[in-house]
Amino acid sequence: MSDVDLGSLDLAELAGVAAGCTLCPLSDGRLNVVFGTGDPNADLMFVGEGPGAEEDKQGLPFVGRSGKLLDELLAQEIGLQRSAVYIANVVKCRPPENRDPQPEEIAACRPYLQRQVELVAPRVLVTLGNFAMKVMLDTTEGITRVRGRRYAWADGVVLVPTYHPAALLRGGGERIAEARADFVRARLSLMEARPS
Ligand code: URA
Repeated sequence: MSDVDLGSLDLAELAGVAAGCTLCPLSDGRLNVVFGTGDPNADLMFVGEGPGAEEDKQGLPFVGRSGKLLDELLAQEIGLQRSAVYIANVVKCRPPENRDPQPEEIAACRPYLQRQVELVAPRVLVTLGNFAMKVMLDTTEGITRVRGRRYAWADGVVLVPTYHPAALLRGGGERIAEARADFVRARLSLMEARPS
């Protein structure tokens, strides 16, 4: 399975390969692979960290409390429903006890995310939390230093780093206000990318 050329697969084929993936130990404990969901042609793509318990049960990203907050920010600041965007995670299988994903797990899963981004080809990428930001921007800087601005990512794609919704649930009003500003940055980037 590891010798499959992911670069030749469409999104459904890629999801099929991921569903049988055993490239890292996270596959041992999963109920479901949480591949990703949403509009495969979305202009806006979110990248989170990895599935929690509820996501593992349902096989869908951001369906727990964090997901509810993500849906609210998306609707209130960008005016979109989740069906209009694409949502994926850095790792597709739940880390036990919701621990941080390990570097070798992130590395094993990275080609799936890379191909997902290629196929969805969003105009704007929003990373949720430290792990997604570090993977996509290839930096060791922390989220509090990196967020608050837009990054030219690749081929005209704008990247907007923001906090993870779980951190917002813990962090309260100040953090949420910062995240709202980040979502507005994403909306502005979408408007600039899609004049209408
Ligand atoms: N947190 C994440 O990073 N991803 C999910 O899918 C759910 C919670």
